[in-house]
Amino acid sequence: MLTLNKTLGVLCRLPKWQIRGFLRSFTFRPGKQFLHKLVLGIETSCDDTAAAVMDETGNILGEAIHSQTEVHLKTGGIIPSVAQQLHRENIEKIVKKTLCASGVTPNELSAIATTVKPGLALSLGVGLEYSLQLVNQYKKPFIPVHHMEAHALTIRITNKVDFPFLVLLVSGGHCLLAIVQGISDFLLLGKSLDIAPGDMLDKVARRLSLIKHPAYSTMSGGKAIEHLAKQGNRLHFDFQHPLHYCRNCDFSFSGLQTAVDKIITQKEKEEGIEEGQILSCAADIAAAVQHTVASHIAKRTHRAILFCQQRGFLTPSNAILVVSGGVASNLYIRRTLEIVTRATNCVLLCPPVKLCTDNGIMIAWNGIERLRAGLGILDNTEGIRYEPKCPLGVDISKQVGEASIKVPSLKI
Ligand code: ADP
Ligand code: MG
Repeated sequence: MLTLNKTLGVLCRLPKWQIRGFLRSFTFRPGKQFLHKLVLGIETSCDDTAAAVMDETGNILGEAIHSQTEVHLKTGGIIPSVAQQLHRENIEKIVKKTLCASGVTPNELSAIATTVKPGLALSLGVGLEYSLQLVNQYKKPFIPVHHMEAHALTIRITNKVDFPFLVLLVSGGHCLLAIVQGISDFLLLGKSLDIAPGDMLDKVARRLSLIKHPAYSTMSGGKAIEHLAKQGNRLHFDFQHPLHYCRNCDFSFSGLQTAVDKIITQKEKEEGIEEGQILSCAADIAAAVQHTVASHIAKRTHRAILFCQQRGFLTPSNAILVVSGGVASNLYIRRTLEIVTRATNCVLLCPPVKLCTDNGIMIAWNGIERLRAGLGILDNTEGIRYEPKCPLGVDISKQVGEASIKVPSLKI
């Protein structure tokens, strides 16, 4: 009571706008009081319509997701207009389901955070338009979110990770290594020069016709390859490791994809089967591809760790590598990275699998992080646009290349 009286005393002496700001930081419900700020996060950057409500301590009060994976598997890849239509059909349902599960009304939210970059233009547009409607209707602050920043910060929901740390983001649309110095303060060490590893694994799975195999027909390509690889022998095929002559932290996967395509065509001829049927050596190919992808990612990450240690970006007491994105749910890749972190005295941290792929929780959390830091919270959304392409942080990949660090070989 004494504390309440004191608070009221202080409040009376504040100007009106500050009182309003203070009150907005609390959420009241009849019979129940939210002591923490609440953020609704909305994600539609690619092929998942997702939302979540979180409080500032990291509690997930409600969440919902609609995945388009099965539809896109049938059409042989993401068709942007189909993704847009599916987002349109599902966004309201998903947000309502999330709010309902959380027991929070839109009025009780402290802010709405939405992915606005990077991603598919048609997909981003649906999330942004819907969010702005809510923002205007309920007069809430808006927090535009960078999809990759959200992936990078997700680990801070489950683990106490201080800045700076190293992050590897590997998904269907992205592949990069960056130093996270602060919530929106990134140094980019390297990225894919062509396609992302998830995209490549999706293409290989499609070329191997895994959709026709009952066990894999509903899995994403990457997940199907991981499962199939368990029955294969990687030593039956030998693919060249991409960019092995470039001492930088960039990635490349399209050359490997072409090489795999060639092998599949050759094997189809040898086995006398038509394109569309499953090869008897499909598991061996899956195992060899997965191994080459894992080794390539591990090599670039190893170099990034050595660069960071040389330049003092990672201190011995805080040498953390965070790995996230859909491809980070691959256990073979995680174990390969563990070999690297063990050899370099780093700690490897991965968010739970559910938080590695696109989700609404990471967007809500990005909103919480920004709200707590007072970063990028908009009361006026005029002129806000989505950006299909948007680099992450300051690009220092040239410096990494100039350092030309030779990576010692590790037994993987
Ligand atoms: P994006 O929306 O940018 O594709 P996501 O984070 O949703 O990113 O990741 C989806 C990608 O992750 C797909 O390309 C999928 O094949 C890949 N993926 C999912 N699970 C696995 C896995 N176990 N192993 C490898 N790749 C995976
Ligand atoms: Mg996705």
